Amino acid sequence: MKKLEEYVRCIPDFPEEGVMFRDVTSVLQDADGLHLAIDTMQELVKDLDFDIVVGPESRGFIFGTPIAYNNHKPFVLIRKKGKLPCETVSMEYELEYGTAVIEIHKDAILPGQKILIVDDLIATGGTTEAMIRLVESLGGEVVGVVVLMELAGLKGREKLKGYRLESAICYE
Ligand code: AMP
Repeated sequence: MKKLEEYVRCIPDFPEEGVMFRDVTSVLQDADGLHLAIDTMQELVKDLDFDIVVGPESRGFIFGTPIAYNNHKPFVLIRKKGKLPCETVSMEYELEYGTAVIEIHKDAILPGQKILIVDDLIATGGTTEAMIRLVESLGGEVVGVVVLMELAGLKGREKLKGYRLESAICYE
């Protein structure tokens, strides 16, 4: 039986020089890899009490939906600006070059609901931090964040002080 990290293909200098790209497609396109990824993430949150799973476009959808399904909870999408059809709230955040805007449907979370955020990877933590602010702007309470991969060297965890962050694979 292969270990989870052995399913992740690592591509040096993609999309630009100096970046080691951690590719989830190699995990997903292997039936055992996909099972192990979801089962490991599920195990990390098994003691958490949550009402809703929230995941961002696009790889957050892949990992968030099976975790919502496993726990018989709803799944709420966070999308890039302009993609959601009903009334939304938005959050702008800094990228390496410029800014990005993410959105969520205004009626998707009620005040006091407990939220688990699921994504593929945390690097600088900028995206996760923006998702937390977005959820909290609707009155949701973020009880945990679970990702398949954490790039610990980029110190995303430091941005999430006070929040529970679980990662299935941690690269130093
Ligand atoms: P960040 O906001 O810096 O935490 O970046 C989060 C997003 O960037 C993740 O959801 C990934 O899709 C992507 N990402 C950043 N760095 C990498 C990397 N080295 N390999 C693969 N994806 C990455």
